[in-house]
Amino acid sequence: MSLRQGRRELLGAALRLGGLALLPALVARPSVAQLRAEGLAAVDVPPEPPPMKGTRLVLLGTRGGPGIDLARAQTASAVVVDGVPYLVDCGYGTLRRLVESQVGYLRVGQVFFTHLHDDHTADFPALLSFQWTNGRAARVDAFGPPGTARMVEGSILSFRGNVEIRTVDEGRTHKPEDLYHGHDVVVSDRIVQVHKDARVTVTAVENTHYPARNTARMAHRALALRFDTKDRSIVFTGDTAYSQNIVKLARGADYFVSEIMDEGLYQEMLRRARIASSEGNSESVFRHIAETHSPPADVARMASEAGVRTVVLNHLLPGLSAPRALDYAASEFVEGVRKGFAGEVIVGQDLMVL
Ligand SMILES: [Zn+2]
Ligand SMILES: [Zn+2]
Repeated sequence: MSLRQGRRELLGAALRLGGLALLPALVARPSVAQLRAEGLAAVDVPPEPPPMKGTRLVLLGTRGGPGIDLARAQTASAVVVDGVPYLVDCGYGTLRRLVESQVGYLRVGQVFFTHLHDDHTADFPALLSFQWTNGRAARVDAFGPPGTARMVEGSILSFRGNVEIRTVDEGRTHKPEDLYHGHDVVVSDRIVQVHKDARVTVTAVENTHYPARNTARMAHRALALRFDTKDRSIVFTGDTAYSQNIVKLARGADYFVSEIMDEGLYQEMLRRARIASSEGNSESVFRHIAETHSPPADVARMASEAGVRTVVLNHLLPGLSAPRALDYAASEFVEGVRKGFAGEVIVGQDLMVL
C-alpha cells in the first residue's frame, strides 16, 4: 500500500468515526488540526465532543440466547465512568462492538460476568488473546460466579500456541498469567460487594436463572450486578426469571437493564413444556426457557417493586410470530412492560449510549 493510499484510508476511517452521531468520543482521536497538518483533513471533520466526564451506559450486544444474529451481537454492555470502561458480559460479537463504539478493547481492565452461558462469554478468550497480542501490559481482572477463575485459566490455555510463537518470533516477554486474574464471587440471597475503586462500587446478588432443583446439583450460579458511581446507578438483571433478590438489589436505581422474553414466546414455551411433560420429558428445553427468563409482566413487576427510574431492555428474546426470525417486536416489548411499570422504557439496540 502506498503512503497516499494509507492516508486516504485513514481519512476515510476518521470520517466514518465522526459520522456516528450516536457515539460520543470515548477515546482520544486525532484533532482536526493534527489531521490538517498531516494533509488528511481535506474536507471538514465534525468537531470533537469534549472529553467524557461522568457515567455512560453503552449497549454493545442486545441479542438474547446462543444463536448467531447478523444484526445484533450477543449480550455485552459497558459502564464507562470518566472514560474508564467496565465490561459486563462478553458474548459473541463483543470485540467488534467495542471497536465500533470507540470504547475500545485494549483499555478494558475489568470484566464482570452475570453467568457463564456461552452467549455471555464467547468473546472472552478472544478479548484476552488480542489484548496480549496487541500490547496491553496492565492487569485485567474478571469477576463472576464460580467457574470464572477457571474460565480465565482456560482462556489463557486456548491461546497458548500464539503466546509461544510470538515469544520466540517477536521477543515478547510478558506472560498472560501475570496479566489476567479471575475471581469467583460467592453469591447468595445476600447482597455482596464484588469490586470497589475510586470511580465505582459493584455489588451482586443471586438471581433465579437456574432453578433450585438444578443449583442443588451444580456449583454454578447466576447473578445480577449493580454499579454505583457518583452520578448514576445501573443494575443488570442478567438472565433471570422474576427475582425478589433483584428487587432488593435494584432499589431506587436509575437504570434497570433487564432481559426480556416476548409474551407470545413465553406462552408457546409453556404450552410445549406441558406437551413434553405429558410425554414423559419433564426437563424439556421449553420448560427451561419458560422458567428461567422474564416475560414483560415480570420485568415490569421487578422494575415497579424496586422503584427504578428507567427500564432498558437487552438480551431480547423475540417472538416466534415475528415475520422473520431476526425481527424484534420492539413496540410489543415496550407496551408489555408499560402495563405494569409507569417509568421510562427503552428497547436496547447495539451501540446505544445512555
Ligand atoms: Zn443468555
Ligand atoms: Zn443464560
